[in-house]
Amino acid sequence: MSKSIKLCDISDYEKFIDKFDTFLLDCDGVLWKGGDTLPGKKLLFVTNNSARSRADYVEKFKKLNIEAHEDEIFSSSYASAYYLKNVLKFPKEKKIYIIGESGIADELASEGIRHCGLSDNDQQFKPEDIVPDPEVGAVLCGIDFHINFKKLAKALYYLKTNSDCIFLLTNDDATFPASGFIAPGAGAISAPLITALNKKPDAIMGKPNKPMMDCIAQKFKLNLERTCMIGDRLETDIQFGNNNGVTTLLVLTGIAAEKDILVDNAPIIPDYYMSSFGDFAKLC
Ligand code: PLP
Ligand code: CA
Repeated sequence: MSKSIKLCDISDYEKFIDKFDTFLLDCDGVLWKGGDTLPGKKLLFVTNNSARSRADYVEKFKKLNIEAHEDEIFSSSYASAYYLKNVLKFPKEKKIYIIGESGIADELASEGIRHCGLSDNDQQFKPEDIVPDPEVGAVLCGIDFHINFKKLAKALYYLKTNSDCIFLLTNDDATFPASGFIAPGAGAISAPLITALNKKPDAIMGKPNKPMMDCIAQKFKLNLERTCMIGDRLETDIQFGNNNGVTTLLVLTGIAAEKDILVDNAPIIPDYYMSSFGDFAKLC
């Protein structure tokens, strides 16, 4: 093991919480298993799921009796819109071609960014439909439950024929845990484009990548040294903190198990781990 890892014990909780101003919380695998809030601390909910907008998340949280404001949610759909607007300064007269769900379209609209592509859902491919829209200046690819050949062919067309067209992914999760099965994630949806282009995307937003952390830090003016990322997945959540100078706490209510981090030569290890985020509620 290359660094020491501590089991976060209930007797240490108060001392542990005092070290941080902000907690970045993964959603699926952490919150859905019963979380609570921490008084006096900033909590930001950070999810790689691009299917929903922040407004959709507020509704989902309500059903789970978790109070959250849109501004406390950072989904990979919103991160993409934030990055296009504030980092890339994407021109107002240009459009994004979306491979993805309405969450992406809603977040682009919320940042005043024009888009197209959703109307290609469930459409059969006909070569004559590949009509270029000269206003498209970027392709943004996320999870897409309606992915089809027409969408991939159009996206490829834009990226192949215009060397200035930007290629962005909301996130590159290979899979995600759906109810009862492992589903192909946004990384799997974008793989045909990467193969066809023989080129990596210009940026990948979601955890564990740097653009997501840069956007969060910029928007909320975070001191990363006093920020802790709490998550259940080693290759996204924990790597996200480890890659970006943020302390990490693994919870064992989702994907990773104790054996994954305690084996010799474990490739990704958190700074701390605990059985459940719900345990923090014992302090409140
Ligand atoms: N991608 C999709 C499409 C998902 O539905 C989920 C979880 O539900 C994820 C990624 C992972 O989300 P999180 O970062 O909240 O674990
Ligand atoms: Ca998760």
